[in-house]
Amino acid sequence: MYTLERELFFSGRGVHSGQETRLRLKPSTTGSILLQPHLSPITPVLLTACEFEAHGGTVLKTNNFVLRTVEHLLASLICLRIGSLEILWEGEEVPILDGSAAPFVEELEKARRPLEQKMPLLKIIKPLEIKDGQAWVRAEPAETWEISYEIEFNHPVIARQALTLEISEETFKQAIAPARTFGFLQDVENLRRMGLAHGSSWENTVVLGEREIINPPLRFPDEFVRHKILDFIGDLALLGCYLQGRFSAFRAGHQLHQQLVRLIRDNKNCWILKDNFV
Ligand SMILES: [Zn+2]
Repeated sequence: MYTLERELFFSGRGVHSGQETRLRLKPSTTGSILLQPHLSPITPVLLTACEFEAHGGTVLKTNNFVLRTVEHLLASLICLRIGSLEILWEGEEVPILDGSAAPFVEELEKARRPLEQKMPLLKIIKPLEIKDGQAWVRAEPAETWEISYEIEFNHPVIARQALTLEISEETFKQAIAPARTFGFLQDVENLRRMGLAHGSSWENTVVLGEREIINPPLRFPDEFVRHKILDFIGDLALLGCYLQGRFSAFRAGHQLHQQLVRLIRDNKNCWILKDNFV
């Protein structure tokens, strides 16, 4: 696995809070991802020890702190196999940057440094599934790490999109990381009443009007399903391991992704851990 050869900083607006936030990634040789708010006296907390919830995006929580919208950062770290660092921040949210994971990947790739230590691999050996109405998520055994995602929206630009992909550093960088957050113009008022989307703008979100994209062009014709895969990887990264298995989702979101993470975590007979992977 990798750590960083130097500190990295990211700053900008949080997509939900609308506040300016600052993120500092610090090299470490502990072989784990630790979190600590900037200038806080608390002991750094392991990523895998944090509570998490879905509220607009992926929220990490402990008794002492909250960090919102971690999914694009966590997806980048797991896919680049950067598993040894400290995450510090000011403000309570990871900056949204351009709405994708590409700015994280670009900086992380330039700054990473290999460690002797290997990253653990969680290999699915028995299928697990959760349904919620028509939506479902599933994990099954497979030879590699594969993600299959299908979405359906009653909107002419999105309609039905499906994509199956083997996840590797290359496929993540090329096909997934550049896909941006999207949202419907008609939902903005409601979202803002719920404390969400206060920082969303045409610069960080693909905005859909009633029948069209308000701020074209798209980066991929199926950018929407690609972004859903990015979010899914970001939630699966909460397991703190590289993965082997086929992870599929139909019309899902952070809530269901996270239920699958909990189901995997709680069903230790459905996976094995290889301690010495990459
Ligand atoms: Zn996202």
